[in-house]
Amino acid sequence: MTQPFSIAIHGGAGTILREQMSDALKASILADLEKSVRAGHQILAQSGDALDAVVAAVKVLEDSPNFNAGKGSVLTNKEMVEMDASVMHGKEKNAGAVAGVLHIKNPIELARDVMYKSNHVLMIGEGAEEFAFEQGHQYTEQDYFFTERRYEQLLSMKEKGLFALSEAKYPDDKKYGTVGAVALDQHGNLAAATSTGGVTNKKYGRVGDSSIIGAGTYADNGTVAVSTTGMGEYFIRQTVAVDVAARMRYLHEDLSTACDTIIQGELKQMGGEGGLIAVDAKGQLHFAMNSTGMYRAGIDVNGHFSVKIYADE
Ligand code: ASP
Repeated sequence: MTQPFSIAIHGGAGTILREQMSDALKASILADLEKSVRAGHQILAQSGDALDAVVAAVKVLEDSPNFNAGKGSVLTNKEMVEMDASVMHGKEKNAGAVAGVLHIKNPIELARDVMYKSNHVLMIGEGAEEFAFEQGHQYTEQDYFFTERRYEQLLSMKEKGLFALSEAKYPDDKKYGTVGAVALDQHGNLAAATSTGGVTNKKYGRVGDSSIIGAGTYADNGTVAVSTTGMGEYFIRQTVAVDVAARMRYLHEDLSTACDTIIQGELKQMGGEGGLIAVDAKGQLHFAMNSTGMYRAGIDVNGHFSVKIYADE
């Protein structure tokens, strides 16, 4: 008999304005989310490993300009794209992460290589890229990642002296567009992956939660796999992803209680807007957010596909 398997993905949480969402943009986002979750699910259905599934799902979203990861990443104060990513496999609690990479087309694949092909967990900037090229990643020009929309966002943020989120010219400008995936495979392995361009107008080599194991990404076989999105500083201070696992392990909370207690409780109280996706050891999926929306999709243990944007859906 086939063992249960399931997968969930997200394309960022935040304020998404229903009244401004065009049919064309919505259709394009929904198509990307579906393509991503199906890419991961296909690997699980063929008895593949959960880590391969989450990397494949995230790669689809990195390649789309609709999300703040890979192509379409937000711009730094110096008008550059600087990306962070991480992966974790729940069996050995093995993990890999990169921060501040500028020329790597798919940072999530580099995070995976850090995990499998080095003795380290986290590599940054030039060193991470040196390792990437040794592993056969191609040098990718910054031009590839640039989009007009992100440039306009940066200009508006600079004008206002703000960072993180811009004015709502586009319907999802006030949304964090980080992408992530979590999965349970047929062998009982849990895995999580998260990838981002960070926040608009960031300075000084700022790194968010997406490359921090325990904050943006966490996986522990038998318990849970988690990927988060939102204002990274809060997610780091609350170590959100590992806190979900700790609540389940030590307090024996169920998946939804553990996730919602953090996202709707302590995180929200300290001002941390955002959300997370999680899957438990039985393959149950959960989507939690304290914002008005989160781009998300899943295929549950019964093979049921769902895709949603707003919190009230
Ligand atoms: N969590 C990401 C960061 O702070 C932003 C996002 O979720 O889009 O870098």
